[in-house]
Amino acid sequence: MYKSHSDTESKLYDPLINTHPGVGMPHSASYWVDTAGSAPQDDGPVNGAMDVEVAIIGAGYTGLSCALHLAREHGIRAVVLEANQVAWGCSGRNGSFARISGGRVPLAELIQRYGASEAKAYFEEMSAGLNTVRGLIREGQIDCDVQPDGVYKVASHARHVDGLKREVGLYNEVLKYGATFVSDTQVHAVHGGAESFGALYMPDGFSMHPLKLAWGIHRMARAAGVKVHVASPVTDWHSDNGHHRLVTPGGVVTARQVVVATNGYTSGALNKATAGRVLPVHSQIIVTRPLTADEKQQSLVGSECMFDTRNLLSYYRRLPDDRILFGGRSAITGRDAEHPRHRQNLHDALCRKFPALRGIAVDYNWGGWVAVSENSLPFICKVPGLDNVFSGGGYAGSGVSFSVQTGKRLAQMVAGDSRPTSIDFLHRSPKRFPFQPFLRVGQRMAYVWYRFKDAR
Ligand SMILES: Cc1cc2nc3c(=O)[nH]c(=O)nc-3n(C[C@H](O)[C@H](O)[C@H](O)COP(=O)(O)OP(=O)(O)OC[C@H]3O[C@@H](n4cnc5c(N)ncnc54)[C@H](O)[C@@H]3O)c2cc1C
Repeated sequence: MYKSHSDTESKLYDPLINTHPGVGMPHSASYWVDTAGSAPQDDGPVNGAMDVEVAIIGAGYTGLSCALHLAREHGIRAVVLEANQVAWGCSGRNGSFARISGGRVPLAELIQRYGASEAKAYFEEMSAGLNTVRGLIREGQIDCDVQPDGVYKVASHARHVDGLKREVGLYNEVLKYGATFVSDTQVHAVHGGAESFGALYMPDGFSMHPLKLAWGIHRMARAAGVKVHVASPVTDWHSDNGHHRLVTPGGVVTARQVVVATNGYTSGALNKATAGRVLPVHSQIIVTRPLTADEKQQSLVGSECMFDTRNLLSYYRRLPDDRILFGGRSAITGRDAEHPRHRQNLHDALCRKFPALRGIAVDYNWGGWVAVSENSLPFICKVPGLDNVFSGGGYAGSGVSFSVQTGKRLAQMVAGDSRPTSIDFLHRSPKRFPFQPFLRVGQRMAYVWYRFKDAR
C-alpha cells in the first residue's frame, strides 16, 4: 500500500503515500535554512546494533525537548532517531510564531466541549508551553532572533468584528487573560493595506528563527548526554516481550521504551498502532524580497505575529530584514504541493491584503505537513496496544510552543508519571479517522467550501 520514498516520482514526501521520509535528505530550501548559519554537530547515522532504554523517533521540537527533559530532569539519556536532518520536518520550516496555542478549536467551542474549568486548565498548559520555550532560550542562550511580543488576530472582514469582541470577552471572563480588542484605526498603526477591520490582541507570543531554535534545543540535549542519530529512519518495527526492535538502514536499535515524535510526518507504515491517527495537512509559505520603506509603511509597519479570521486563514509577519513571510493552506497532496498555482494562491492573498505589494517578487517558497487529529487538539498519550510506547502531536499547525511542552510532558510519562497534567482530553489517544481512503476527498471539498465562504 505504501511506497518507499525512492519508488515515488513525487518529489515531496507524502505520509499517506510513502513508507518513511527518506534517508539523510537535505533540508528543504527555505529562508530559514539560508539564514541559520551552520548546522550543529550530530551523532551521524546509526552504525551497528544498539541497545537502549529509550528511543525517540523524530528530531523536531517534540523529540528534542523530550530527550532534553529526560536527560536533565529524570537522568535518562535517550537516543533520538531522525530520518533526515535535525528539525527536517515542521520544526525547521514553520511560520515562526511561538504563541499560546495548540490545535485548532475556537475558544467558544473548547469551552462548550470540555467546560470552563478544563478549558482554563488547557489554556494554562499552553501558556506554560510558551514559558518553557522562553526558559530554554534563556538557559541555553539560544540566539534565535526573538522579536518583541504581540499577536494580532485580524478581522479580515467587517462582519468578523463582533465575533472577535465576543472572543475577547471569553478570554477575559472565563480564562482571566488580558486579551483586548483593538479598533481598525489602532490596527492600522501596525497593519496597513486592506482587510484589517480590527483585531484581537494578545500581549504574549513572539516570532523567532525556528530552525535556530530547534538547533539550540538540539545542542542543549547533546550537552546533556543525548545521542541524536540523523539519516536513520525507522523502516520496520518489531515488538515482543517488552522489547522494541527499531530497524534503521545502519542497524537495529533495541529499546525498552519508545517515544513517537513524528507528528505530521508519521507514515502509516511506521506502526499499525499509530497509523491513521493524524491527518497530514500541507501548509505553505512564501517570503518576498525586502520591502522598500514606502512598501513597509503601506503594509506591515509592526513586526508582531499576525493571522486573519478567514476559514482558510493566512499568517504573516515582517522579518528582521523587512521581507514579508506569508503562509496559508492550498495544496492537498505531496504530489501536487510544488505546483506553481499554490504559490500563486498565497501571492494573491498577500496582495489582496496589501495592495501596495502587487507584483512583488517572491524569493522563497516552501511547505510542510502539519498534523490534524480527529478532535483538532493535541495529544500526549500512551499508544494503545503497545507496551511502553508514548506519543505526542496533533498541534494542527499551532505547535511551536506546545510541541516543546509536549516533549517535556512525554519525558514525565516515560519516567513513570502516567498523567502529567489534569487535562483529560490531552492524555487520550487520538481516535483513528473514519473512512481513511476518502480523507483527502473530504479535505478537498472542505477547501472548496471554505474558499466560497471566504470569498463572500
Ligand atoms: C509551513 C508551516 C508553518 C507553521 N507555522 C507555525 C507557527 O507559526 N506557529 C506554530 O505554533 N506552529 C507552526 N507550525 C507547526 C509547528 O511547526 C509544528 O507543530 C511543530 O514544529 C511540530 O514539531 P514536531 O517535533 O512534533 O514535528 P516535526 O518537526 O515535524 O518533526 C517530526 C520529525 O519526524 C521525522 N520522522 C518521521 N518519520 C520518521 C521515521 N520513520 N524515522 C525517523 N524519523 C522520522 C521527520 O523527518 C521529522 O523531522 C507550522 C508548520 C508548518 C509546516
